[in-house]
Amino acid sequence: MFETVFLGTSASAPSIHRGLTAQVIKHDEYRFLIDCGEGTQRQILKSGIGFKRLNRILITHGHLDHILGLAGLLSTFSRWETIDELEIFAGSWALERISDLIFGVVLRGARPPMKIHLVEIQPGVLFEDGDFSVSAFPVNHRGPDCYGYLFEEKSRRPFLPEKAELLEIPPGPWRRELVAGQSIRLPDGRVIKPDQVLGPVRPGTRLVHVGDSGRTDNLRSVCHLADLLVIEATYLNTEAEMANDFAHLTARQAAELAQEAGVKNLILTHISRRYRERDVLAEAREVFPLAEVARDFDVFQVKRGECLKIGGY
Ligand SMILES: [Zn+2]
Ligand SMILES: [Zn+2]
Repeated sequence: MFETVFLGTSASAPSIHRGLTAQVIKHDEYRFLIDCGEGTQRQILKSGIGFKRLNRILITHGHLDHILGLAGLLSTFSRWETIDELEIFAGSWALERISDLIFGVVLRGARPPMKIHLVEIQPGVLFEDGDFSVSAFPVNHRGPDCYGYLFEEKSRRPFLPEKAELLEIPPGPWRRELVAGQSIRLPDGRVIKPDQVLGPVRPGTRLVHVGDSGRTDNLRSVCHLADLLVIEATYLNTEAEMANDFAHLTARQAAELAQEAGVKNLILTHISRRYRERDVLAEAREVFPLAEVARDFDVFQVKRGECLKIGGY
């Protein structure tokens, strides 16, 4: 299960109702901030999620509407010292700009408030824990080294306690070993195999996040059957040419990708001030009826095909 908190949902400049791009993905005790547009720290406060454990930042690309908030965030961290280490993951071009911003403008030779690791990403897994991983994949937008992120729970076989009861396996280490896929020998000599107490494989939840993107054909395979796709929709179809010129997507293109890839849920973000939200929604829903348009502070929970809005205005 993943939870996603939209902190900013506006494209290129803020509007009265939308802050600049930023989003938090939560899984158990882990939190990942994706992009950090100007004003993100105030959105974090307003959303109630706070700064604690917000120590991993994934940047989709180096455009200013996605990174300027890092300066303010770092400056606040230097006073509050809420975290010991901060990792910022980005492609090399974005990282160079972020480095200029943090070390050239904010710190200017001062000691960083915490260890700051600027991690240059390559396509592939960038973070892994026991039951989930985060991978980066290339995205085409203006400029080099743009990335999207895939959050993926490992598939697992659920433990069936009723079967364990029938076999009279006492709770404790034996059950844990079975869950870990190992056969056990009970004190009475019986050998129990994992198959006897585990259900069929249950695929883990997959959440795909795509920031600014000028193409969708190269995203189909990573989006294939995802439980949730979060993707930009900066333009409407009436201005498809302009979308193409600036390497952005229309709501229709985003929805077509969702449709073709068989994703189960779609949330559009990076919404331009030039359109009404309901027009963006209508265009997407013509193709993908379950499409949603994110608003600042919306919270969605995604779990095996289901995506529920559990908070927001
Ligand atoms: Zn942008
Ligand atoms: Zn951009």
